[in-house]
Amino acid sequence: MLDHLSFTAPEPKTIAGARGDWELVIGLEVHAQVASKAKLFSGASTEFGSEPNSNVAFVDAAMPGMLPVINEFCVAQAVRTGLGLKAAINLTSAFDRKNYFYPDLPQGYQISQLYAPIVGEGEVIVDMGPGVARRVRIERIHLEQDAGKSIHDMDPNMSFVDLNRTGVALMEIVSRPDLRGPEEAAAYVAKLRQIMRYLGTCDGNMQNGNLRADVNVSVCPPGAYEKYQETQDFSHLGTRCEIKNMNSLRFIQAAIDFEARRQIAILEDGGKVVQETRLYDPDRGETRSMRSKEEAHDYRYFPDPDLLPLEIEQAWVDAIGASMPELPDEKKARFVQDLGLSEYDAGVLTAEVESADYFEAVARGRDGKQAANWVINELFGRLNKEGLSVETAPVSAAQLGGVIDLIARGDISGKIAKDLFEILWTEGGDPAAIVEARGMKQVTDLGAIEKAVDEIIAANPTQVEKAKANPKLAGWFVGQVLKATGGKANPAAVNQLVAQKLGL
Ligand code: ADP
Ligand code: MG
Repeated sequence: MLDHLSFTAPEPKTIAGARGDWELVIGLEVHAQVASKAKLFSGASTEFGSEPNSNVAFVDAAMPGMLPVINEFCVAQAVRTGLGLKAAINLTSAFDRKNYFYPDLPQGYQISQLYAPIVGEGEVIVDMGPGVARRVRIERIHLEQDAGKSIHDMDPNMSFVDLNRTGVALMEIVSRPDLRGPEEAAAYVAKLRQIMRYLGTCDGNMQNGNLRADVNVSVCPPGAYEKYQETQDFSHLGTRCEIKNMNSLRFIQAAIDFEARRQIAILEDGGKVVQETRLYDPDRGETRSMRSKEEAHDYRYFPDPDLLPLEIEQAWVDAIGASMPELPDEKKARFVQDLGLSEYDAGVLTAEVESADYFEAVARGRDGKQAANWVINELFGRLNKEGLSVETAPVSAAQLGGVIDLIARGDISGKIAKDLFEILWTEGGDPAAIVEARGMKQVTDLGAIEKAVDEIIAANPTQVEKAKANPKLAGWFVGQVLKATGGKANPAAVNQLVAQKLGL
């Protein structure tokens, strides 16, 4: 389906240091909350914004003797996401304990999948403009538990813990270090979000923290990345720092830019970048050290003895595969190929699955380009202006389709159609009935148009002389006739009659 697209890889972002150029290398670990009503190993609710500590099962609170029970729905969502990223699905995977102490982690460990993740290698195509795209390799997706939340700003003398989030299912999507600039990194997160929202596996709400990224950044001299690509040997790359828990596309870009410059300054000074975890401070626009990067053995990972290895069947995976929706890349390609839309328009219409659905309902059985123009210019333009989303649009796809049908039948002109759209937006109703009831139909009765043309010609002899000398001025007569008929005269008929009567 995508074979017709020819991709050129964008140039890596280079930053000029005092002693030479440097290139950026970025790899992301994206944590996506599974869109599930219940947690990964308990039946407790995942509802956002509930009363603190109200969505906590005994196992989430790590009560002694409680055992985790895997939630099949969450496993299915991880598989679905894997298939959406064209990734290998591992029929056998296993859960491990990642041990660390934190007040919002009552178990004293997080259940994750270190050694055998449920999803293996895949890829994501990140559009960077027409014909330019970055292919980003996915290393793995594993399932793991989220931790709770410590609250430090409610009381000057105490901290609180809210366990509502404890045990909520996360998919950690790990990329290879294939992103080469801040814009690409942000576009990659946006693309993952888009794909998962099409799949329905993660709601992508970054503000609520349902999608957040750990951003790994390193810099290297030009040429070094190519050597890494040839050999897959990480020693060609620079030492990376990991910026934790980013939940805004804008901050991701700003943090990468700051971090790259910080590393370049150290290296050009003859220093060494220390591998560590850093935090981005949006108020100061800088990253600062949080802790030096622990080695995996510090977590003393080991297989969770409470959980059997996770065995799934190929037939079950196939059934999930059979229920996959059309994904954004395929939908966009189809809009370009079958409906003749531009890459740009197809991209706008497929950005959100709800927009694409709306557009398809309008375009069904109608001219695709005309439908695209109306949806993008009139509907989206108006929605943006009023801060509304397509789900809450006051004009339905059926109503907008009705407007387009009235234009196609010659009942209304494009100009009247805009007035009609305005009426539908503010008052609602059936487009054809409104046109009928309010006398908005355009006049195609040639007799009536001819009468108006004759009257205007008779009343303006000097304009007639001018127009005969310069046919471009005939437009003035067309305008006058349209005005005299309240904009309802069929413009094509008016044009023709004016030219005929003036002898042009
Ligand atoms: P860890 O689990 O210890 O954080 P991983 O090897 O799993 O380490 O890598 C985590 C992320 O860091 C991956 O997305 C990977 O692509 C990225 N990464 C690894 N090396 C580099 C590097 N030199 N520069 C930028 N990103 C890197
Ligand atoms: Mg990591």
